[in-house]
Amino acid sequence: MRNVIIVGSGCAGNTAALYTARANLKPLVVTGHEPGGQLSLTTLVENYPGFPDGINGPELVENMRRQAEKFGAEYVNGSVVEVDLSRRPFRIKIEDAWEEARALIIASGASARWLGLPSEQKLIGRGVSSCATCDGFFFRDKEIMVVGGGDSAMEEAIFLTRFGRRVTVVHRRDEFRASKIMLERARKNPKIRWITSAVVDEVFDVDKGVVTGVRLKSTKNGAVWEEPVDGLFIAIGHVPNTKVFQGQIELDADGYIVSKGGARTSVPGVFHAGDVQDRVYRQAVTAAAAGCMAAIEAERFLEAEGH
Ligand code: NAP
Repeated sequence: MRNVIIVGSGCAGNTAALYTARANLKPLVVTGHEPGGQLSLTTLVENYPGFPDGINGPELVENMRRQAEKFGAEYVNGSVVEVDLSRRPFRIKIEDAWEEARALIIASGASARWLGLPSEQKLIGRGVSSCATCDGFFFRDKEIMVVGGGDSAMEEAIFLTRFGRRVTVVHRRDEFRASKIMLERARKNPKIRWITSAVVDEVFDVDKGVVTGVRLKSTKNGAVWEEPVDGLFIAIGHVPNTKVFQGQIELDADGYIVSKGGARTSVPGVFHAGDVQDRVYRQAVTAAAAGCMAAIEAERFLEAEGH
């Protein structure tokens, strides 16, 4: 029987692990299918406080894990494949083994949705990004392209005009899913150029190991052409990693955990931390803070139950 199981090993999960370990709760952390979370996909992180010269994302998240392990957090590789949260202790199946826990912290994050092109995947962190706040700074005076037609794409395009020489929004339809206000704001920005009814078909140049351009394909007549690009930002949405919790805790229509105040979920003893609940801020520092909150709430919950 575990006091607390933490699902996910990004900023939120590692910080929850650090705090619960220091509270002597001996947490078990399930790393998940993307160990280290979104930070493990980034390069230099310059907006995490305490690192004036920046720190590489994978190094930052690995440091967090080491810090939690130092105080007794235990990590297990693998994913949670099934849960029973209908009664306590909660039952959690990690790969093929069932574990029991008095409290559960869900920090399984949200994964960026990608186009799914092999060339795109090979160039992530080398000009392809899913986070303007993280990587925009590297594209000063460069040619930037944003893919997507929702609010995220508008927000990222507007933000990126601070850095890029020009920002081209590429959207697969003529109509935009983005809210009117965001679309208007983007349309008023003279640095933004628009290509509609087109998709990115290929990202160049895998051989050089850096983004140099894209091939676009018209969704109307199939015509293809190339555009030079230095930074390609994919903003086609995120998918919260909550499939395994469906029907067990309250999720919203997009699958994000519904917060019941603080770090509480609809099930007492189950807490949320980080991007799995947060579709607004999605920063390393806010995820870490959410992990801390979840740990403190789990600790108080267990104490009130006499553990
Ligand atoms: P979203 O609203 O689901 O929009 C995703 C966009 O990506 C859509 O335009 C979609 O095209 C396009 N897309 C999806 N898959 C694609 C593919 N494989 N290839 C090309 N294009 C693809 O996602 P989001 O923009 O991340 O927003 C998510 C939620 O957060 C929304 O509720 C949004 O309002 C909210 N949000 C709000 C703000 C804000 O208010 N400041 C900022 C960010 C997000 P189609 O339109 O053709 O489907």
